[in-house]
Amino acid sequence: MNILQIIEQKVNGQALSEAAITFFVHGYAKGNIPDYQISALLMAIKLKGMNELETAQLTQAMVTSGDTVDLSGIEGITVDKHSTGGVGDKTSLVIGPIVAALGLKLAKMSGRGLGHTGGTIDKLESIPGLTTSLTSTQFKQQVNDIGLAIIGQTQSLVPADKKMYALRDVTGTVQSIPLIASSIMSKKIASGAKTILLDVKFGSGAFMKTVADAKVLAKAMVAIGRNLGRDTRAMITDMDQPLGFAIGNRNEVLEAIETLKGKGPSDLLSLCVQASAMMAVQAKRAPTLEKGITQVEEVIHNGLALKKLYAMIAAQGGNMHALQQTDFITTTSAVDVTPTSSGYIHHIDALMLGEIASMLGAGRLTKDDAIDPNAGIIMRKKVGDFVDQKTILATFMTNRVVDPNWNMQIQQAFHIGPTPKPIQPIIHDWILS
Ligand code: URA
Repeated sequence: MNILQIIEQKVNGQALSEAAITFFVHGYAKGNIPDYQISALLMAIKLKGMNELETAQLTQAMVTSGDTVDLSGIEGITVDKHSTGGVGDKTSLVIGPIVAALGLKLAKMSGRGLGHTGGTIDKLESIPGLTTSLTSTQFKQQVNDIGLAIIGQTQSLVPADKKMYALRDVTGTVQSIPLIASSIMSKKIASGAKTILLDVKFGSGAFMKTVADAKVLAKAMVAIGRNLGRDTRAMITDMDQPLGFAIGNRNEVLEAIETLKGKGPSDLLSLCVQASAMMAVQAKRAPTLEKGITQVEEVIHNGLALKKLYAMIAAQGGNMHALQQTDFITTTSAVDVTPTSSGYIHHIDALMLGEIASMLGAGRLTKDDAIDPNAGIIMRKKVGDFVDQKTILATFMTNRVVDPNWNMQIQQAFHIGPTPKPIQPIIHDWILS
């Protein structure tokens, strides 16, 4: 096998064999093939594409480039979910406890936030004392005991993706459906769950800007699952405004708790209820989505889902007392933002609010930046609401010196028009096979 021939085959638009794909992925992960040749190959893949079988084989080669998580010691059906990321996305903190309350097992590995999107691990670690580093034995024991554990991704999981993603980032090859789909699915498959639900977001705050692009990505990932023997489904969801009202780490933990009490924002609650119900269908706990929704509503109303979240936080060392205090979130400034005109909110630029939240201290611009768990934004209004110059659109909280531009930028993130704007359902579509 010769890397030059593989590059030429792809440049000529030919499909690569499984042996060729495994050769370049494993060769690169081991350091046997230089960056410049893999860069050329990635660009050829971006320009010429990959068919469904090649994309599945690429995913499998990435999975076998490192360690995989063996969840066979866990009793019951293991489920996983993944979101392509957005602003205000705290769904794992709501869906995880709900599915655990339904008797499913969620053994989840999550990431940290970078840029305008937050990460589940940062949100969890905003609770004093909570650790997201468990040994493999502790991880499985906790999932067996309470049905739920969320930890950080280990370095040895899919090393080929870590190297290839870093190279794609600097060679203009991030935006390629087979490369994105295989990158995401390799991490899910290596994490070991039997069924996977993907939340593919579209809109200003999402990786995919349009519904059409989100569907293409979702279909590619569902096809990978089908080819590699994992029941994988996807929902296409709206990120044309932040999800819920809270942006920032502690803010989002508190909003997740309210949602598990059934009192959360309607978009977040609706997404989490339907996603959890679909996971129950995938795991054969519920015969239909409607029956699944009834089961989910029951574990929210009887408090079992919230108990699961508290059990997970306590098991991972989180200080429950601190979480329940009124000074859980402390900032030196809390500034209300009002609009410059009146009318109906048509759109809320999630990307802009995510970037401002980062500047307030809630996110990181480079992977080594420290974050302030207290900083963030609470939106007071959503798309469709009527506002006038006295209405508070949002409140931003920070421990940094307040930059006067933040107020103006938050105003600009809220697009206000003269006519009412119909509210779209949060789930735009499902990709089931
Ligand atoms: N997220 C990933 O994990 N990989 C990609 O390629 C893009 C987004």
